[in-house]
Amino acid sequence: MMMSDKCKEHVDSCRFCWMCHHICPIGNATGLERNTARARALGISLVNREAIPLSDIMDNIYECACCSACVKECVTGWDPVMFTKETRLQAAMEGVLPEYINVLVDNCLETGNAYGITELDAKLAEAIAKHADKKNVVLFLGVDARYKVPEAAVKAIKVLEKVGVEFTVLAEEPTSGAQLEYLISAANETKEQMAACADVLNGFAKVVVYDPQDAKVFKREYKEWGVELNAEAVTFTTYLAELLAEGKLTATNSGKEVTYQDPFQLARDLGEIEEPRKVVSAFATLKEMLCNGKDTMWAGNILMKEWMNDVIVDVAKDRIRNAKGVGADTIVTASVSEYAALCSVEQLDVQIITLEDLILA
Ligand code: SF4
Ligand code: SF4
Repeated sequence: MMMSDKCKEHVDSCRFCWMCHHICPIGNATGLERNTARARALGISLVNREAIPLSDIMDNIYECACCSACVKECVTGWDPVMFTKETRLQAAMEGVLPEYINVLVDNCLETGNAYGITELDAKLAEAIAKHADKKNVVLFLGVDARYKVPEAAVKAIKVLEKVGVEFTVLAEEPTSGAQLEYLISAANETKEQMAACADVLNGFAKVVVYDPQDAKVFKREYKEWGVELNAEAVTFTTYLAELLAEGKLTATNSGKEVTYQDPFQLARDLGEIEEPRKVVSAFATLKEMLCNGKDTMWAGNILMKEWMNDVIVDVAKDRIRNAKGVGADTIVTASVSEYAALCSVEQLDVQIITLEDLILA
């Protein structure tokens, strides 16, 4: 397999190390040695040494959420996310992606979302239609909210309506490229989707990004890969915190005790820790759970449910256990994908709500 010298160095440094195995949400959910950064590195190193074919390790390569908990934990600065993504890119170029990933990639290319959905939910379409006029600010919903959790997208629109800001929502929203970035990394197809999206968004002054996964690629990968997004990209949570500080979003603290689930894309990748806490604390009493802020533990997502649903449910169960551990009976989410994963656990002890639910209550 073609792999950069930089990645090979990271692979060879990780392959016999155990130091971050306790931090992997997938490894913790499955209890399997294969779900550690080290095991993934060992598999890649065997491919690099031509001991096994690349196709032999591909299932394992797609058992990583790329949540960067191991990267954060690594005191020596090695990066399993980097070599995992480079392996995905190489597998795409060599035509050895698992069939279940090929299907999702094809859907992304044909429909703009990995699920292959083309119709919007009627209520969401109605809510979007009210904001068809061109304003300076565009609310970017993202594919998970638009096609998988439309009720959350409707509430996000309602929150901005409540505040009274003028904004556009695109009926034909381009895909950010975030799903392809996760599935096949820096392929030409990913960059083409990103460039097409930037072209549309550059017609606005500000993009309020609802989904943290989109926010991460707008603010990080676009820059890294030279995709010019001239519009100012601001996360939905930071935008709410700004509106709160300006007195445009008014809050009454209900006194309800809640805990907050930091999306890793916001807390770890973008360093956004305080902004969502300001919003949550304005409406409720915040009780921190184990592993918060930069140390957050991923609570699952919608995309990986496509090929490892049971594991994602177990990942979400672990996070609900963390909330129960501090006596919290409500988890406030800021990622629509984590919200869906947490809601997929059959349980009655902990209520799962979005930041918008908290504001609109
Ligand atoms: S990322 Fe760091 S701690 Fe984790 S396996 Fe690699 S070298 Fe060890
Ligand atoms: S990026 Fe996350 S899911 Fe992947 S090995 Fe590291 S901790 Fe586990």
